[in-house]
Amino acid sequence: MNDLLAKELRRELDDLKLAGRYRNFRVIQSASLPEGIIQGKRYKIFCSNNYLGLANHPRLRQAACESTERLGSGSGASRLVCGNMSAHVELEEELARFKQAEAAIVFPTGYMANVGTISTLAGPEDTAIIDRLCHASIIDGCRLSGAKLQVYKHLDLDSLEHVLSRSGKYRRRLVITDSIFSMDGDIAPLPQIIELCQCYGAVSMVDEAHATGVFGEHGWGTLEHFGVEGQVDVVMGTLSKAVGSLGGFVVGPQILIDYLRQSCRSFIYTTALPPGVCAASTAGLRLIRDEPQRRQRLWENVEYLRRGLLELGFNLMGSQSQIIPVLLGDETRTMQASEALFHQGILIPGIRPPTVPKGQCRLRITLMADHSREDLDCLLEALQNCR
Ligand SMILES: *Cc1c(COP(=O)(O)O)cnc(C)c1O
Repeated sequence: MNDLLAKELRRELDDLKLAGRYRNFRVIQSASLPEGIIQGKRYKIFCSNNYLGLANHPRLRQAACESTERLGSGSGASRLVCGNMSAHVELEEELARFKQAEAAIVFPTGYMANVGTISTLAGPEDTAIIDRLCHASIIDGCRLSGAKLQVYKHLDLDSLEHVLSRSGKYRRRLVITDSIFSMDGDIAPLPQIIELCQCYGAVSMVDEAHATGVFGEHGWGTLEHFGVEGQVDVVMGTLSKAVGSLGGFVVGPQILIDYLRQSCRSFIYTTALPPGVCAASTAGLRLIRDEPQRRQRLWENVEYLRRGLLELGFNLMGSQSQIIPVLLGDETRTMQASEALFHQGILIPGIRPPTVPKGQCRLRITLMADHSREDLDCLLEALQNCR
């Protein structure tokens, strides 16, 4: 390796270690379940996005195995060449039905769906207007697009309108928000954002990564929750969280999906997902449709834990979802709390800058439908000592 490069990389890594920001990767020796094994020891897991427990469901495992037996472990090429298998087409049809849309397009990951879709729909003559707490994949898509990136205050409609009202000179205005925010667990005021977009002739785009399968009576997402189905121009989501598999998607009018298929670089210039992964996703969507009790159990867990945490006097920020931040503020305190929980057999990450603003360090809890009352009581008891 180039000597100078090696020296520079080593110095930066040493700086990270000195600052206590060097990340170690834990090895999980078991399936994605509420309890996991790390270095031979059992831990209760409160940081998985496998919200409905589908990632280890027999129906998904079976669908993945059957499809793999029939079609193989890899797709062999990109969708446009010869990697477009029946498993991909079935998944896109199921997604369109599930999200009540005309059509759907599947990407290898949600990250690629955002980066590709945003950079396809916006260019240097446009502006992308995003909530300050949008996911990294949205920010990266905006940067790649070359559009003017403008940021409005978190959930702040006045701030959004302020930016919109001064955006007349751009060809296209693209307003993008997460529906459920990854770190705060709060929810975007979609009806009002839609109204502002219509008022200013802006295109609306919503990232339903944490909402798909969780929000709305049928698990269709926050658009169903608010009763605004069909009113957002571009709806993006992931198959990697509640759906229990892997992949990203965009659903919407046929013309949007046709356009992305023809022009989106992160869709065209990459190998199609393995068929087994697609089959698992399709099975996951069908389970979400057929077993609403999973979603119900998740929400019962959310209610129970929220009540317990509030009784203990914790600040849960604006959380309204299965993502529950416990604000501790100070960085040292937060990282020590996370460490102490780990010693008690509970895995919850401490979140600190640069992921969240200074002074807003927190334990970030995510719940699963399969967590038992006993799991939640155990967590509440352990957290008592973190007050
Ligand atoms: C997880 C996530 C993504 C990325 O999805 P992957 O399928 O994991 O790549 C995009 N947006 C948000 C808000 C997310 O939380």
